[in-house]
Amino acid sequence: MGEGAPVRDDERPRAKHVSHPILRLDIVGANGARESEYRVFCKYQQRSVPIGTCSACAHCDAILPAPTPSVECTIPLDETEPPPDPQGVRTAVGGVLAAGATVIDPSVTVREALALLRSENRRSVAVVDEKRTIIGVVHEATFVPKPGARKEPPNESIARIMSGSVVVHESLPVRKALEVLAASHLREVTVVNEDGVPLGLFRDVDGLRWLVDARDRERTARGIPREEQKHGRDLR
Ligand code: SF4
Repeated sequence: MGEGAPVRDDERPRAKHVSHPILRLDIVGANGARESEYRVFCKYQQRSVPIGTCSACAHCDAILPAPTPSVECTIPLDETEPPPDPQGVRTAVGGVLAAGATVIDPSVTVREALALLRSENRRSVAVVDEKRTIIGVVHEATFVPKPGARKEPPNESIARIMSGSVVVHESLPVRKALEVLAASHLREVTVVNEDGVPLGLFRDVDGLRWLVDARDRERTARGIPREEQKHGRDLR
């Protein structure tokens, strides 16, 4: 093509702008020591990546600290846009996480774990090893001794009382993740990557809200006015 020749629309590379929330993993150790790691669930690769990968990625436009920490990218658009997913059967649960998680290492004491649960208003907290792989979970209920049972010594290591954890892989569809929660009688579950490292917490309320929004998006794509969506008068 000669210099200055106009570029036809069908010759332009098709691309779209995508924002990825940064998922921060806080690892709390004994005596309140804290370390943090940062990942995003890359919508282009459909898997989580460390933030360092984004810094070196050709699709990265910016890494923004505020208002919500995010990675902004321009990624190629496929020939066909993925169809709407009002049932949540194709959307990976990792891609709907808005925030990361706080976890503890096994050296944390019973007293420290209980204080963390209370300060963060949590029902449970995951326990990870030195590679950040999840190895267990401590539930709030663990600290409520059954009648006649011994109370856990406050300086006991949490490793002794943690139990096995229910987790879901980041690529599991939203609908399936909700089924795991229902089958396990849980309100929230930890989402992990290929190595078993926690990315964030998936809560049933967040999943159900996502399904409602996805249904609205699908109806909007079909041209159904928002008022009709709101009043449930869609008879098509
Ligand atoms: S910068 Fe690259 S690796 Fe990071 S989220 Fe965007 S497309 Fe994925």
